[in-house]
Amino acid sequence: MPDYSQKSQHLLATAHLDLQIVFNEVIKTWDCTVLYGHRSQKEQFELFKNGREWDGLVWKETGVTVTDKDGYQNKSDHNYIPSRAVDVVPYPIDWKDTKRMIRFIGFVQGVAARLKAEGRITHDIISGADWDNDTYMTDHQFTDLPHFFIKL
Ligand SMILES: [Zn+2]
Repeated sequence: MPDYSQKSQHLLATAHLDLQIVFNEVIKTWDCTVLYGHRSQKEQFELFKNGREWDGLVWKETGVTVTDKDGYQNKSDHNYIPSRAVDVVPYPIDWKDTKRMIRFIGFVQGVAARLKAEGRITHDIISGADWDNDTYMTDHQFTDLPHFFIKL
């Protein structure tokens, strides 16, 4: 049975209990890696600066950006304690294999739906592939495949 690395366990422990319960169930069947749990506002701002430059007035996009949340005026679900989001990808990591990542998302949400039906969690687990959780992926300009979150 697969198990999380110490780093993944540590990151998952910073997340909301429902996310911990779901991903502790997921790992029993599908090996995966936790990339992020909680992020400080400072860490968020460092990510925000990727692909952007301060032109004296505003942050101008100069390349590929990874988030539109700066951690201060615009908080990410990762910036709360406990974190309302985790970033998890199937192992081994292959960023080009987005189909496998989407398959993984379906698996995670299936596990989460069962746990919610059993009363073991109380929140829906929503994916950054489908922010409004309406099952359609074509109505989003921006997708974040590793991102799983709960709405409080
Ligand atoms: Zn995320």
